[in-house]
Amino acid sequence: MSADTPQARPEPGELTFAAPRAAKPPRHLADLSAAERRDAVAALGERPFRARQLAVHYFDRLVADPADMTDLPAASRDRLVADLLPPLLTPVRALECDDGATVKTVWRLFDGALVESVLMRYPQRATVCVSSQAGCGMNCPFCATGQAGLTRNMSAAEIVEQVVAAARSLARGGVTGRPDAEAVPGAVSAQTLGLGGESDDDADGPLDGQGPGRAGADAAQRPRARVSNVVFMGMGEPLANYRAVVGAVRRLTDPRPDGLGLSARGVTVSTVGLVPAIDRLAGEGLPVTLALSLHAPDDALRDELVPINTRFTVDAALDAARRYFDATGRRVSIEYALIRDVNDHAWRADRLGALLTRRGRGWVHVNPIPLNPTPGSRWTASEPRVQDTFVERLRARGVPTTVRDTRGREIDGACGQLAATAG
Ligand code: SAH
Repeated sequence: MSADTPQARPEPGELTFAAPRAAKPPRHLADLSAAERRDAVAALGERPFRARQLAVHYFDRLVADPADMTDLPAASRDRLVADLLPPLLTPVRALECDDGATVKTVWRLFDGALVESVLMRYPQRATVCVSSQAGCGMNCPFCATGQAGLTRNMSAAEIVEQVVAAARSLARGGVTGRPDAEAVPGAVSAQTLGLGGESDDDADGPLDGQGPGRAGADAAQRPRARVSNVVFMGMGEPLANYRAVVGAVRRLTDPRPDGLGLSARGVTVSTVGLVPAIDRLAGEGLPVTLALSLHAPDDALRDELVPINTRFTVDAALDAARRYFDATGRRVSIEYALIRDVNDHAWRADRLGALLTRRGRGWVHVNPIPLNPTPGSRWTASEPRVQDTFVERLRARGVPTTVRDTRGREIDGACGQLAATAG
């Protein structure tokens, strides 16, 4: 089946783990480790050190046009680029809001499948929200992506390319950050909409190769902004596409020029709670932040809101989240979309607080997100005072809680609204 063919909408509660069979995207430098690249270059009859030259162009200079690779012999250039840097993402449309500080791009993949990424620029950092699958098989009823079903898994390089494209656009000054962009009324911290499992205290400075220390003082003079954070909060369930996602995280965090050189601390992987995959991720030696989409503290409601709960319960998911903290030292984010009269009751805040503190202190924080109503949905966001009470109840139990801001809403870039259409 071609990826253009829309998936049948899943039945309520139906889960899809295996992506439909699909032609594989062309192999790309970013799919390969440094050692594999040398082998690939040698197999083309080129000297192995050309692999590193190519990586410098791609990851360091953000260049993929053979004409810009003057250190490579002309005859080799085209061959190397054709084989290892095939174009993977074609922009279909770019939409911006927040005075240009937020840009959503719709991309067409080699087989016609559409995905979206969102770049959000803040004064001290820039966050890219990436997709890991075309569509999603997890079928959460409040999420636009979930309603469309799963088209296919993305390759590691298709994921990395979203970040490289964002890095290029920042380097060109294409996305401007308003100086006051973080002063969003009512938002306690600048978590984004699709975003940020990171909280204020662990956001790294922009990756400008000078270390986080430099970020604050002279941000105004920084010559060019760099991507500092990547959140797997676009389309797809990252842990259902495990190999490609871990491969992409390695490319993002490998030191330049083997990879993009981002700090693992700046990377957040968000999941519905695939317990075996959370445990596996904990053992990868990649201290990325884990975000768990909980959305309800009781199994009866979570079975409905996050259908994977019928396989892995609230307790099982929270136990895995706690083990993740033990293994990595990274504080886990609990995502909780506040849905009016559905999951926003004070008693649910109390129950959530009890479930978290029972597992210890200092290991977790909660990110309530005002529900972003999707077209045709019967649900809407909680009343502000109900949201405030929910937050206060958690804080009263000593659970750090920050409401996420809602960058990108006007362009359907806000969380849960990534449902790419060519239209
Ligand atoms: N599959 C991953 C990534 C999904 S998007 C996961 O489920 O974690 C990132 C976050 O946005 C998830 O917590 C998801 O539940 C939430 N989300 C989805 N739709 C939303 C909506 N309409 N309003 C608010 N949050 C939403």
